[in-house]
Amino acid sequence: MNEFILPAACVAGQRLESSEARTPIFAAASGARIGWQQSASPSQVGQAVAAARAALPGWRDAPPAVRGAVLRRVVAGVEARHDELVQWQMRINGKPRAEAELDVADVAACFAYYAGLCELGEAFAVERVDVGDGGGSGVIAERFHAAVGVAALVVPWNFPMVTTAWKLAPALAAGCTVVLKPSELTSPAEHALFDLLAEAGLPAGVANLVNGDARVGAALVAHAGIDKISFTGSTAVGTKIMQQAALDMRRVTLELGGKSALIIREDADVELAVSLAVAGAFANAGQMCSATSRILVHDALYRRFMSEFEIAVRGLVVGAPEPGPGQAPSQMGPLVSRAHLDRVQSLLLQGLDGGARIAFTGRLAPHAGDGFYMAPVVVAEPPADNLLWREEIFGPMACVRSFRDDDEALAQANATAYGLVATVVTESAQATARYQAELRAGLVWVNTPQLIFPQVCWGGLGASGIGRELGLQGLRAYQELRHAVRRAP
Ligand code: NAD
Repeated sequence: MNEFILPAACVAGQRLESSEARTPIFAAASGARIGWQQSASPSQVGQAVAAARAALPGWRDAPPAVRGAVLRRVVAGVEARHDELVQWQMRINGKPRAEAELDVADVAACFAYYAGLCELGEAFAVERVDVGDGGGSGVIAERFHAAVGVAALVVPWNFPMVTTAWKLAPALAAGCTVVLKPSELTSPAEHALFDLLAEAGLPAGVANLVNGDARVGAALVAHAGIDKISFTGSTAVGTKIMQQAALDMRRVTLELGGKSALIIREDADVELAVSLAVAGAFANAGQMCSATSRILVHDALYRRFMSEFEIAVRGLVVGAPEPGPGQAPSQMGPLVSRAHLDRVQSLLLQGLDGGARIAFTGRLAPHAGDGFYMAPVVVAEPPADNLLWREEIFGPMACVRSFRDDDEALAQANATAYGLVATVVTESAQATARYQAELRAGLVWVNTPQLIFPQVCWGGLGASGIGRELGLQGLRAYQELRHAVRRAP
């Protein structure tokens, strides 16, 4: 098959070529190089920002219903091109078909939600603020939400298209224009999404894309023409971006790392707990900011849980995105790249050197190719200061520790700088209320898998970031709240 070559940038509907160094793109499941990505030059980053600025007045001032109609056509496009988009998720990231299909469904649901907000119009209306009789002065107060301006959207590789949709749909709904920088490892998915935007009739220059690595991302977020930065990625890079943004008070939304807990209480349904443990740690091969890689199990259930968890992990089919006829469908795919696989394995070794012990591992299916596969690993009772318990590993590794009571479970779960999500398994309504209130996390699931709805906000406390995506707050992240106090003419 011919290798594809992605352009350096898509600016105002034009594909720009560049002579900068290009980077290879691999298929994670086979390890083979399948294409190349050109890298945007500093002047092309400037061109992309200039195109977004030029398109801003027209898009910002269009009625919300007009923007909603474009977003609605994007939904239709995602549905019409469903198979092609699923193929990209499978081909580049090596995701099993079921995971790739969930990603594409999430993209459609996100655009549909923000199309709906535009159609309803309430989120854009001028509202009266009750100031009584205005202190006897007869003035009235009003509030409204106005587009922030040009937004830089910088995304990682673990859910290409999905993290992009979570930014792109609300930014466009709000009336912002954007420059997107996808991850250098997985940009074909975003190029496919950009084709859809053009087909949906998005005016030229409203959404622009620059390809490249950290240097291109850094040039974009430092550009004086950017009003808002929305970043998803590591806490280390998020910190640098916030420092950069502070120089001229640029608005930021940061969706960063996590080290989340799954708490299995004494009254838990063990079968449910095992299925949530497997999905929470090994979905997307553990490459999830929301991975519940710290599993806390009540003493009374510990042995039974570990033995059923072991059976489930050993039974996981880790292999090709689409195995051949007669072969079981894969439940876990490869890691995204050789470098990331090496990094995860090296962290595992460091953790083992530091006193952690492997309880059991899964295995690779015969149809796992020469790609970047790693069998799932479960570590039992690591010391609390072990890096496998403390640090985000971002791979198929889970640690299990036991606890005696709710106080201890909460203390262990909250003993982290992160605060993205948590899951609790319990039959008690009283315990549910306590964990919901006391777990330091942006989102707590109780007895459910990691369900994500576009209406429910996403975002973390502490080192997991600042701001919220999805939901109404996800739209507000691309708007400034403004007020007027005036005497009626
Ligand atoms: P990363 O921080 O290395 O890179 C993310 C993006 O930022 C990439 O596009 C990269 O090219 C770019 N970048 C790197 N350095 C930059 C800089 N100095 N300035 C501007 N842009 C820069 O992260 P990654 O390895 O791609 O992704 C994994 C991380 O993402 C994990 O920590 C994970 O927890 C996090 N993540 C968080 C969420 C969330 O919603 N909270 C979701 C997915 C991933």
